[in-house]
Amino acid sequence: MRPLAELPDEEARAIGIVLFDLDDTVLTHGRLTREAYGAICDLADAGLDLVAVTGRPAGWGEIIARQWPVLAVVAENGAAILRREHGGVARLVQDPTAKVRLAPLVSAVLGAFPDVELADDNAARLTDVAFDIGERRKLPRERVEALRAFVLGQGARATMSSVHLHASFEGDDKASGALRVLLLLRRLDAGAARARAVFVGDSENDAACFACFRTTVGVANVAPWVGRLTVPPRYVTEAPMGAGFAQLARRLLSARSGAGTAEAVRT
Ligand SMILES: [Mg+2]
Repeated sequence: MRPLAELPDEEARAIGIVLFDLDDTVLTHGRLTREAYGAICDLADAGLDLVAVTGRPAGWGEIIARQWPVLAVVAENGAAILRREHGGVARLVQDPTAKVRLAPLVSAVLGAFPDVELADDNAARLTDVAFDIGERRKLPRERVEALRAFVLGQGARATMSSVHLHASFEGDDKASGALRVLLLLRRLDAGAARARAVFVGDSENDAACFACFRTTVGVANVAPWVGRLTVPPRYVTEAPMGAGFAQLARRLLSARSGAGTAEAVRT
């Protein structure tokens, strides 16, 4: 990983789409700071497309799609897409029956792991189930690994963020969900999307996006996860979480304003 300051101006200026993770990337310990939300507004005001790409529920995505200046939200690690449409929110869900099919797995997990609790956002989920590994209380690493192995043994996928372990029968990941949004809403094929988007994230469930996109950034707190990522982010911010996201926003906007100055000089 290189410091964000080494992101070349030309590469920064080519970015028209910002794909961002929520927990521990834009959100700081679960809270949206004035600085981070200001950065989102600054990027949107400059004409960039913003897409939240999160493991959080479709129900959270619906609110963000309604209220924030974003093109769309990819929720539940790629399985649900929410976007504002005709004053409401359109939902694109790969398999609406997916959550029902997970019920036996949930019973099996809670029976085998008395120390594991469901995350408190499951009521808003449509396609997956989330177990709390670090949000309300921290589950020891060896228990997290045992839980992951158990979920995989049930034939489900297991995806981990800094706060949750998700179980799902869906085949999507954050990268496939983000690419689907850009194809549907901006008519960009995968090659064009990879060239025009930056992805910023912090942990293991961001691995697919770190591997997929050309310009990738980790906020500083990505460091402990790097050993678990097959492809680490290319750049890393100095600051963690929301402050790191704001650094990326400033870097993109300064490169664009620099281009504007050069254009003005030429004309
Ligand atoms: Mg995260």
